[in-house]
Amino acid sequence: MFELTEPLKMLEQALRPYCEKELSAKVEPLEKGEVAVLDIMRDFDRAFGINAMVSGALHEMIERKCRREREGIEEKGSLQEVLAGEVGEAMDPLLIFIVMKELCRVSPSFALSLGAHIGLCGQTILAKGTSDQIENYALPLFSFEKLGCWALTEPESGSDAFALSTTAVPDGDFYVLNGSKTFITNAPCADIFVVYAKIDREDSKADKRMIHPFVLERDNEGLSVGKPMHKMGMRGSPTGQIFLSDARVHRDQLLGKREKTSRSQAQETLTSEREENAAMAWGIIERCLEESIKYAVERKQFGMRLIEFQLIQEKIARMYVHLENVRNLAFKQAWAMREGRSNILDACAAKFYAAAAAVEVGMEAIQLMGGYGYIEEQQVERLTRDAKLLMIGGGTSEIQLLNIAKELVRDKGLSLSLTGGLRN
Ligand SMILES: Cc1cc2nc3c(=O)[nH]c(=O)nc-3n(C[C@H](O)[C@H](O)[C@H](O)COP(=O)(O)OP(=O)(O)OC[C@H]3O[C@@H](n4cnc5c(N)ncnc54)[C@H](O)[C@@H]3O)c2cc1C
Repeated sequence: MFELTEPLKMLEQALRPYCEKELSAKVEPLEKGEVAVLDIMRDFDRAFGINAMVSGALHEMIERKCRREREGIEEKGSLQEVLAGEVGEAMDPLLIFIVMKELCRVSPSFALSLGAHIGLCGQTILAKGTSDQIENYALPLFSFEKLGCWALTEPESGSDAFALSTTAVPDGDFYVLNGSKTFITNAPCADIFVVYAKIDREDSKADKRMIHPFVLERDNEGLSVGKPMHKMGMRGSPTGQIFLSDARVHRDQLLGKREKTSRSQAQETLTSEREENAAMAWGIIERCLEESIKYAVERKQFGMRLIEFQLIQEKIARMYVHLENVRNLAFKQAWAMREGRSNILDACAAKFYAAAAAVEVGMEAIQLMGGYGYIEEQQVERLTRDAKLLMIGGGTSEIQLLNIAKELVRDKGLSLSLTGGLRN
């Protein structure tokens, strides 16, 4: 369980030189906005054949879905179960974790964009879409023809994500969407947008406002995007706002059934995003530790190598302890995803620990390198700025702690509220 299989070791060995050479050379132009993130994804696809790897499985999935739709059989199971059953080996979570880890050793922001494109946008369409929707919207994402984004957060609802106020009002065969989204990865350059909105239903008071994902394209009337935001880190990953102003979407653009809320599916997507965080932190920590050891062995002060000072040894030993813990968490999360045993408690605990560990290791790596660590050319400076996002995106560290406490007393018949006290 804690060792990579031979094929995964081979994947890691194949990814390493690509990331160190090809991807590394693109980091600066990507962060300066001189190259498009989708172009780098295409390069990556050409080098590793992701499209070829998953497209066969996807076409099979579409055919099976068509058959089931014709026979009127309803989809059952969680997003993870559906994907595990449908896409199988091609979507082994550990394989995805190794890819994320290797990318994060060099460019966490590229990994963030790829994760939002495939892991959030693509997987939501696969999990909720009809065969037509998968063919029209998911296939172009997996073939890197188009760039995707996944939009839940709004200016007034971040941690309280499901208090969103974007509305979808039914109008014959259409819905009219109004509202705005913010901090959305890839939004400034995206072609395909999965956007959550609340459907106004006049027929039922209790279920008046239900959360549903809609899939829109860039040229959808009434949809516009803001400029890329300037950020502390993750600068190679475009982040921005989406504005919906009387955006008319056909009912075929609703993902999933109108009568059923998709809140639990959105929650599952967030859980899998949280599970992947351990893989991102793993890459950042592994690289920071390697750079720190290299520096401590080479750099001399007081006529001695830094590594000879015990305070430096302590830093390196602590970094290794974090690496070991985060690596083990990543293995555990990948195992849980594969076995369909993902749960909010462990996903939140893993995200909380991994994010804090990545930031701590990054800061210690900078400290170990002194002034040189603080200079932009050093890998560790950028990796540390990027690491901070892991404590915010996909739910802040505070929200992870609240969720952990909530889950821990659930079996006592208590339902803790995220705002304190008990839920009625
Ligand atoms: C670079 C980047 C990329 C992102 N990508 C996406 C994306 O692709 N799609 C998407 O939908 N969203 C995305 N997000 C949004 C992200 O998920 C939110 O920023 C995050 O959930 C926090 O919401 P907020 O920023 O509104 O902070 P707020 O919710 O306003 O929180 C502010 C502070 O208050 C704390 N807080 C809030 N509620 C509580 C409470 N009950 N108890 C204690 N403390 C509390 C928080 O922990 C935080 O410290 C992205 C964000 C960033 C920065």
